[in-house]
Amino acid sequence: MMCPLCCSDDKKVIDSRPFGTYRRRRYQCAACGHKWNTIEITREEYDEITKEAANALQMGI
Ligand SMILES: [Zn+2]
Repeated sequence: MMCPLCCSDDKKVIDSRPFGTYRRRRYQCAACGHKWNTIEITREEYDEITKEAANALQMGI
């Protein structure tokens, strides 16, 4: 993914650790120094989360 601040593709992973059942990565942009986190989930987990969110919306939660 690109830097969310300057859209540079020149970045490095500075940290990677388990986050629950997911995996969290911390990136730093080589161009502007901006740091950000991503959480990696499987497609199945994504589908499950969006399904739960859609159900919650329908129930007005
Ligand atoms: Zn940047």
